[in-house]
Amino acid sequence: MNRDCLFCKIADKKIPAEVVYEDGRTVAFLDINPRAPAHTVVIPKYHSETIADLPDAEVCPLFLAIKKVADLLVKSLKAEGLTIGINQGRASGQVVDHLHVHLLPRFKSDGGSSVHGVVHNPPEESLQEVARKLREYKDKK
Ligand code: 5GP
Ligand code: ZN
Repeated sequence: MNRDCLFCKIADKKIPAEVVYEDGRTVAFLDINPRAPAHTVVIPKYHSETIADLPDAEVCPLFLAIKKVADLLVKSLKAEGLTIGINQGRASGQVVDHLHVHLLPRFKSDGGSSVHGVVHNPPEESLQEVARKLREYKDKK
C-alpha cells in the first residue's frame, strides 16, 4: 500500500469506485472516464508501478483476474471483441503510477482501432538485426 497512490486508495476502499470483481490479490473497477461500454481496469492490490516491479507471486493472480473479468465483460455485454492493454511509462500514456490493465469491450461498429493503431514507429534495422541485439543483451545478463 502506497498512501499517496490513487489506485491503492481504491483497493483499500478509501476512495469509492464501481468494483465489478475482487479477490484477495486483485480488484477490477469501472474506469471513471470510459472509452468503451464497461471499460474496466484490473489492478493488483500490491502497489507496483509496472509489470516488471510486480513480484512473481502476484503475476499469476493478476492474469487469472483478467481472464475472469474478460469473460464477465464479454458475456454480460455480448461484446464482439475485447482490447486488453497496459500503458507503461509516460511515453506510453501511463498517468496513474499503479499497474493497471485496461479491458475495453469491443464491437464491430465502435469505430475504434486495434493495438496496431497505437503507434507507427517501425525500426529502420531489419528484424534480424533487432533480434540479434536483443539476444546479445539477454546473453550478457
Ligand atoms: P492510464 O493512462 O494511467 O493507463 O489510465 C489511468 C486510467 O485511470 C484512466 O483511464 C482514467 O480514466 C482512470 N482513472 C483515473 N482516476 C480514476 C478514479 O478516481 N477512479 C476510476 N474509477 N478511474 C480513474
Ligand atoms: Zn498503488
